Amino acid sequence: MALMNGARLGIAAQSVGVSQAAYTEGLNYARERKQFDTAIIDFPAVYDMLSRMKAKVDAGRAILYQTARYVDIYKALDDIARDRKLTPEERAEQKKYTRLADAFTPLAKGMNSEYANQNAYDAIQIHGGSGFIMEYKSQRLYRDARIFSIYEGTTQLQVVAAIRYITNGTYISIIKEMLEEEVSGEFAGLKERVAKMTILYEECVNTIKEEGNQEKQDFLARRLYEMTADILMSLLILADASKAPHLFTKSANVYVRHAEEEVNGHYLFIKNFKPEDVEFYRQNNREPAE
Ligand SMILES: Cc1cc2nc3c(=O)[nH]c(=O)nc-3n(C[C@H](O)[C@H](O)[C@H](O)COP(=O)(O)OP(=O)(O)OC[C@H]3O[C@@H](n4cnc5c(N)ncnc54)[C@H](O)[C@@H]3O)c2cc1C
Repeated sequence: MALMNGARLGIAAQSVGVSQAAYTEGLNYARERKQFDTAIIDFPAVYDMLSRMKAKVDAGRAILYQTARYVDIYKALDDIARDRKLTPEERAEQKKYTRLADAFTPLAKGMNSEYANQNAYDAIQIHGGSGFIMEYKSQRLYRDARIFSIYEGTTQLQVVAAIRYITNGTYISIIKEMLEEEVSGEFAGLKERVAKMTILYEECVNTIKEEGNQEKQDFLARRLYEMTADILMSLLILADASKAPHLFTKSANVYVRHAEEEVNGHYLFIKNFKPEDVEFYRQNNREPAE
């Protein structure tokens, strides 16, 4: 697992790189390409895509760096432990950061690899027909990105790795700690929106835990995973925006809105989902006679 987590962090970084490249390709093309005497970047449908691509790059990078920080800390403590006995406080830190690294790695890998795919897809969309042909880089990024959500554990396996931290309250307690942190005044409203998302998220987690229906939990796990990541990445991008508003204010505004749309959608799906609904999904893949 330690080896795999190391590799997963690498794929998360690779994914952020391709996400960024796809965004840059899309941006440059959208600035140059004119239709109806207008640069296509000025069409809302296009700048909506581009701004969400940028927000995914920034929020994705934020969770990558946060994970890398946790890994750095526990690895440094592992190194010290090879030379001498750790103090009880150091041992507690080592345990804490190992757990945080374990909890964050599947989020950083899964979300960034999916974002790389989404951004590569949108980069082609922005290029129109030119994106589909070999002359432009966007088609290569699209093929490169496709493996990221598969190797070193598919996204479905990242969800499997993360679900225990969803049900045992690890993520909720981190989210609540982060909600306690100060953000500068201009971001207070966005933070309030994240706090509201957290209430919906916690309600979903508690409902699923209380019902104790394993199949339903497995079925809804991906949605819970995405809610977790959407909220954590919103808080990380808000922290970045507070420290460097000139770099991250716009992405924080776009990402929190994106997260809100996702979290609310998942909340409605989960709240309306009855255990017997699983059957529609299971049976839809079977022949009538089966
Ligand atoms: C270019 C490339 C390079 C690679 N490099 C390496 C390498 O260096 N080292 C290495 O070890 N491997 C490598 N692999 C293999 C790669 O890690 C596997 O392909 C990947 O882990 C998926 O396993 P699989 O192909 O057996 O798919 P499967 O495990 O058969 O998965 C098929 C589908 O079922 C889903 N699924 C499977 N199990 C579950 C579950 N429990 N819950 C929910 N859904 C599930 C998956 O998400 C997927 O959608 C490489 C693959 C490629 C294509």
